[in-house]
Amino acid sequence: MTSMDFIKKEDQYGAHNYHPLPVVLDKGEGIFVWDVEGKKYFDFLSAYSAVNQGHCHPKIVQALAEQAKTLALTSRAFYNSSLGVYEEYITRYFGYDKVLPMNTGAEGDETALKLCRKWAYTKKGIPENQAKIIVCEGNFHGRTITIISMSTDPDSYKGFGPYTPGFVVVPYNDLDALKKELEDPNVAGFLVEPIQGEAGVYVPEDGYLKKAYELCKSKNVLFIADEVQTGLARTGKLLACDHEGVRPDVLILGKALSGGMYPVSAVLCDNDIMLCIKPGEHGSTYGGNPLAAKVAIAALEVLKEEKLAENAEKLGKIFRAEMQKLVDKYEMVELVRGKGLLNAVVIKPTNGLKAWDVCLAMKENGLIAKPTHEHIIRFAPPLVINETQLMEAISIISKTIGQLSNK
Ligand code: PLP
Repeated sequence: MTSMDFIKKEDQYGAHNYHPLPVVLDKGEGIFVWDVEGKKYFDFLSAYSAVNQGHCHPKIVQALAEQAKTLALTSRAFYNSSLGVYEEYITRYFGYDKVLPMNTGAEGDETALKLCRKWAYTKKGIPENQAKIIVCEGNFHGRTITIISMSTDPDSYKGFGPYTPGFVVVPYNDLDALKKELEDPNVAGFLVEPIQGEAGVYVPEDGYLKKAYELCKSKNVLFIADEVQTGLARTGKLLACDHEGVRPDVLILGKALSGGMYPVSAVLCDNDIMLCIKPGEHGSTYGGNPLAAKVAIAALEVLKEEKLAENAEKLGKIFRAEMQKLVDKYEMVELVRGKGLLNAVVIKPTNGLKAWDVCLAMKENGLIAKPTHEHIIRFAPPLVINETQLMEAISIISKTIGQLSNK
């Protein structure tokens, strides 16, 4: 079967809830993927930063394979011999008392919202059903009904009401607006992405997270960081919050927590918050299964063993400097922004060509990335990329922009 055959099958039998680039991937290794015709590409999306450790990382594959042969799923009706070991490992790794394991990023966010509300009623003393959580304009936390209820993007929420109440929206990167909303004594939490990924890699001003954290502390409000996309070495530190020395009260992780091997998410916080949820009040059949536990330990080990945060920090600077040269040279390239290896290039429609057309042309030249919104291309390669490979990838991007600009 050819790529076209596979595309037709998805189109005919699958829901039309995505608009993929027309490339059918069949194999991955490290920073590369191959399509069904055998053509090789640099992967500059990394499954939305889930594959930070690179495709099919041998250590993570081994952890998965060994555990799959031994015990995969028990449910939480029973104890298993992997979960406690993982819980000890991850809580020490990030410095929290406890972890609550889930599967997807959205479930991690839902878990954090439930923890925050429960804490509001049992610890902060907010009257039942009155708790509010502040969120940011342009947020992306997933696709559940409650999460889209916080969204300001009509593509996410329109047509899916009625919506879950209890959220207050403030502009991102606006401390005055946050301060004003924090005056409400019924505010229990502030949920924020340290960099807004899906919105288009919006990096807040230096000091925003730190100041926001302090404002929350002054009002006994939980600072909840969604590091599902920014976390785990992507931005040049283990967590994006580490850039400002902020330790979130509640930390949400997903994606690269499994290195792309398996859906694994987690919420970390201290006993004071975590123990507000009692047996029977929250959970998931797959959450905390032995396979996930072993895969997550391996994925976290790889981050440190291969110094992926340091690599992201170093190569990110080179990437932005090289993209800046394109900004200076071509009208089509408006700006570059980002941190570590989470970057975006903003494309000015030129010769009738948009970000989507740039992505199609890059694909032809051997690099795949995806537009977010109409005019932004996110560039987020696996963090195992080296400098020579990065320069090769950059030459593909430059060549493509050059070709399109001369059309
Ligand atoms: N939170 C953030 C910041 C994300 O970027 C995403 C996905 O892109 C999610 C949550 C949702 O994760 P999942 O797709 O695994 O539910």
